[in-house]
Amino acid sequence: MAKLIEHPLVQHKLAIIRDVETGHKRFRELAKEITKFICYEALQRVKTREVEVQTPVGTAMCHKIDTDLVVIPILRAGVGMLEGILELVPTARVGFVGLYRDEETKQPVTYYERFPPQIKGGTCIVIDPMIATGGSTAAAIDQLKQDGADNIVVICIVTCPEGIGLVETAHPDVPIYAAAIDRELNEKKYIVPGLGDAGDRLFGTSH
Ligand code: URA
Repeated sequence: MAKLIEHPLVQHKLAIIRDVETGHKRFRELAKEITKFICYEALQRVKTREVEVQTPVGTAMCHKIDTDLVVIPILRAGVGMLEGILELVPTARVGFVGLYRDEETKQPVTYYERFPPQIKGGTCIVIDPMIATGGSTAAAIDQLKQDGADNIVVICIVTCPEGIGLVETAHPDVPIYAAAIDRELNEKKYIVPGLGDAGDRLFGTSH
């Protein structure tokens, strides 16, 4: 299931982050802001429990989040979304996964993985700004499931039908939340119109 966040605030920020004239400082700020809105939606049905809270004038029945939250940025661009999530859920734990594409097999290969044990039984939020082919997202989810995770959501900024299709086929239980579902991939597997190389634009490494 792919869920598009159509709120005008998100779409306004998306228009600015896509703009080729937007520099890395502003790009980073916008990535954080957009991520926060998407995360807010993605956690709408997170598990809660009822708690009694003593106020200065009485007791109130309230709800608190009742699951461990683990954020998993896919290296490197996913790191650009991390701060936004942690500002919303400061107690979340963080795991990392790094993948590269093998030039011969064209398959994603994991070169780094470090997950907190709370992925088992907790709620995992995989973050990557661009889900293009979907290969690394599906591989990161494979890795998480192999290590015991069974409640996973994906948050990205821009995706496309090919990426959604691959992730949904491999992991139909994992919802994808995005600010945009773009037209297609080009021959270099960039999303069109997309926003370019998210890692380079976040970290100022483009030429
Ligand atoms: N990764 C990016 O950063 N941009 C794309 O368009 C596709 C993958």
